[in-house]
Amino acid sequence: MKKQELTRRQFIAAASASSLAAVASTTLPAYADITRKAGKLAILGGEPVRKDKAWPKWPYVDNNIVDAVVKTTRSGIWCRIQSSHGTVPTFEKEYAKLMGTKLCVATGSGTQALHTCVEALGIGAGDEVITSPYTDPGTIASILSARALPILADLDPATYQLDPGEVEKRITESTRAIMPVHMMGQPCQMEAIMAIARKHRLAVIEDAAQAPLSEYQGKKLGTIAPLGCFSFQASKTIACGEGGAIIGDDEELMDKCYTVHNHGTTRQGRTERIGPKYRMNEFQAAVLLAQLAGAQERFKRRNENAAHLTSRLKECPGVLPQKLYEGTASGAFYIYAMSYRKEHFNDVDRASFIEALAAEGIALSPYIEHGLHQEPWLDNILKTKAYQTAFSPRRLQQFREEMSCPNCDQVCREMLMIWASGPLLASKADMDDIADAILKLYENRDKLSAF
Ligand SMILES: *Cc1c(COP(=O)(O)O)cnc(C)c1O
Repeated sequence: MKKQELTRRQFIAAASASSLAAVASTTLPAYADITRKAGKLAILGGEPVRKDKAWPKWPYVDNNIVDAVVKTTRSGIWCRIQSSHGTVPTFEKEYAKLMGTKLCVATGSGTQALHTCVEALGIGAGDEVITSPYTDPGTIASILSARALPILADLDPATYQLDPGEVEKRITESTRAIMPVHMMGQPCQMEAIMAIARKHRLAVIEDAAQAPLSEYQGKKLGTIAPLGCFSFQASKTIACGEGGAIIGDDEELMDKCYTVHNHGTTRQGRTERIGPKYRMNEFQAAVLLAQLAGAQERFKRRNENAAHLTSRLKECPGVLPQKLYEGTASGAFYIYAMSYRKEHFNDVDRASFIEALAAEGIALSPYIEHGLHQEPWLDNILKTKAYQTAFSPRRLQQFREEMSCPNCDQVCREMLMIWASGPLLASKADMDDIADAILKLYENRDKLSAF
């Protein structure tokens, strides 16, 4: 009923506008053609494509989650070491099962999970780890916290992922590991990265913080390398406020991760190495356990909606959805990402495009303003005793001089994204709103510079 009314209203809007003559003189255009061209741009006073309609909220909340937190509160088991049957050990078993790995260690955040892996591999002062400049600051924080040197390699500008060729170029005698990041929840070219790691005998830690349940070449992300890390921070597609996890099959390595994250103390209670205290608490795990029940269904829905949106956007040459590597079976869609090509929009800059789209009722974001190679940590670590002692002045100077990632700069300039954890759980009609608004701007691109 609602849909029919909308159709009629939009048809009238279309018919009363400039397209009336065209409609009369040629065959009737398809429904989509009429709606997307309907009327004037909202920013110039026209009707917005989307009005008074909310998106599904994120983080996800239901009564099971609320009940689980209450139950944990009443149980008095608030910390994992109080019980081997508490929510944290149970979550670790369930998450490992879901991912198809033998083991899981839950942590207080994704950054903590990554740092735990770096420490467990014995990586520290004097060592180098290669990762992406286009990521959450937590990625490099995990390397810096171990006083190792994060080396940032440039991206494939169409996929926004670490370019394996650029990784190989940056390997030195001191390189110990590669930390590929599955940006937006979509896979990196893991087979190429693993091959480089084997050739140069490097460890690999997958930063799958944005990518729970995504599959590439028959494997879940986070299970391709020996160690995979996840984040359950409030915005992520499985969320508990702050939280993280490490998964893996190697018992010895996973035991080391447990020891590191447990202030250097083993499961048997021997304190034997350097380690922060990064344990997940029982409330975090209670939320996660209750949320896992529907996680796969929500994951599937995001994928279906993303596929629909991508197929609709094929009509628009100025907006290119994130390119996916062959072998990508599904993605977590933490973010639905696109590149904005202003030459197809009458050279209107991205900020104005976002403003015009917001007026149509669709909120898009530029995401990361600039890559981590453009942030002040680069200069600041060079002034610290830890780095001055662990690396030669020549290496530090070279590190600073070589820190350039032009493809990442391009991605930052062109990025247009939708925070997808909640919005991609909406209906196909909601996806059509996004596509219709973008297509409306495209059809009216000659008027875009007029505001
Ligand atoms: C969120 C995120 C992290 C950090 O996880 P936290 O739980 O916020 O510490 C690391 N890497 C990527 C790619 C992320 O998106």
